Amino acid sequence: MKKILIIEDEPNIRELILYNLKTNGYDGIAAEDGIMGITMVHREKPDLILLDIMLPGKNGYEICRELRDEGNNTPVIMITAKTEELDKVMGLEYGADDYISKPFGIREMMARIKAVLRRYEITTELSSAEDTVIIIDDLKINVERHEVKVGDRSVELTLKEFELLKYLAENRGRVFTRDQLLNSVWGIDYAGETRTVDVHIRHLRQKLSDGKNDEQYIETIRGKGYKAR
Ligand code: CA
Repeated sequence: MKKILIIEDEPNIRELILYNLKTNGYDGIAAEDGIMGITMVHREKPDLILLDIMLPGKNGYEICRELRDEGNNTPVIMITAKTEELDKVMGLEYGADDYISKPFGIREMMARIKAVLRRYEITTELSSAEDTVIIIDDLKINVERHEVKVGDRSVELTLKEFELLKYLAENRGRVFTRDQLLNSVWGIDYAGETRTVDVHIRHLRQKLSDGKNDEQYIETIRGKGYKAR
């Protein structure tokens, strides 16, 4: 049974989500503030985190960044009460995998949970057969093991960063527009901004860079989009 942690300070929403997680076959657990949320991530090792942004103790952005900084790549769905695009992009910039806006329908939330868990399983699934490894110069992407290396250095990526890199690398040399990448990597139901793509590309470049050439693996094609070299 998949364990899902909800970090949310509003008791009504927390209880409603917990109830629905349970009726949908998930093991739902909850934290009511940011500090307790982080503690529970460490202690309970959930398969997915539903993360409210405005929280006492630590806000959702801080929690997400803290987890990513310590190399924890548990999928995160941010819950935002504000509809401003900035909030959404910021959430994704901090390493969230998806977001949902309040007020939301329970069916929509369950669909997003299912989609994020499924994507995560596909990318982390261990294969007993030979692993598929995409190689571009010093960059090695192990598709089954969800592992990325530059030379001997392991690179920790979030789920979305990994999927984006994998997609570009699988189609090496082909130029994709931001809209195409949003559709292919985030899915057509994703109501994100094309800026989201730029933010993820920037993070990928920072993580892959040897400090000399930021565009070593992912090239910007002016007026068009991006491609893997
Ligand atoms: Ca809140």
